[in-house]
Amino acid sequence: MNGLVQQVKQHMAKLRTGHLAVCLVLLAACTTNSVTGRSQFLMISDSEASALGLAAFNEVKKSQPVVTVGSRAEEVQQIGRRIAAVSDNPGLDWEFVVIDEPVLNAWALPGGKIAIYSKMVDALSHEELAAVIGHEVAHAVLRHGAERVSRAQLAQIGIGVTAIAVGASTDGETGALVAGLAAIAATGFVELPHSRFVELEADDIGTLYMARAGYNPRAAVSLWETMASLKEGQGGPPQFLSTHPSDGRRIDRIRKKMPIYLAEFAKTQSAP
Ligand SMILES: [Zn+2]
Repeated sequence: MNGLVQQVKQHMAKLRTGHLAVCLVLLAACTTNSVTGRSQFLMISDSEASALGLAAFNEVKKSQPVVTVGSRAEEVQQIGRRIAAVSDNPGLDWEFVVIDEPVLNAWALPGGKIAIYSKMVDALSHEELAAVIGHEVAHAVLRHGAERVSRAQLAQIGIGVTAIAVGASTDGETGALVAGLAAIAATGFVELPHSRFVELEADDIGTLYMARAGYNPRAAVSLWETMASLKEGQGGPPQFLSTHPSDGRRIDRIRKKMPIYLAEFAKTQSAP
């Protein structure tokens, strides 16, 4: 009888410890983004996010035709450097590459690793390309990748707490957490199925950055018009569009905020 009471007590203690761990993590993980003022749930530090981003970027370099020289790559690097310099985090270890594939897509990894596919570079004007790069720079500055990793990590901790409650081995759960993170780093970032909210936030800040760098922000509207016409021509949504909010909605939103962007752009035009 005493043995059973002891077992129940131990079980309850494990349960409490698990919940306490989650509560502490949640308290520690909510930070206010200095750019947007929005509260973000982040369970990894900036340096951990950058390390994950770099590891994923190195994986991509091994398996995909990454181009760092030639006219396409030079154009992307030139625009990228100019926009990153006026962003809210110019000190990130920025890197801009082209992936030589017939794909209409672009993505950003934590820590400032950005890739644009060659078909997209060819399809867009110089200023429209600046709008895409501004959007991707904003994803990196706003820590959207780290946010995604944190949500996945929280889900894993939820599983961990349940496992502790039923008396499962914690070693196995730690292994699952590491494997889950590795999977996100390897594939999840590349596909970037961001939420609509995060996409619109990247549009807002990205268009501001492109204007601040001296690119006409009206190109952010023509970018989505061009993408919509390409989509019609192809008969199906390109990859970049399938994970992004519908063109009409985002064009309307950018147009509405255009006076703010144009004011930012005007400052660069009147400078000596
Ligand atoms: Zn995006």
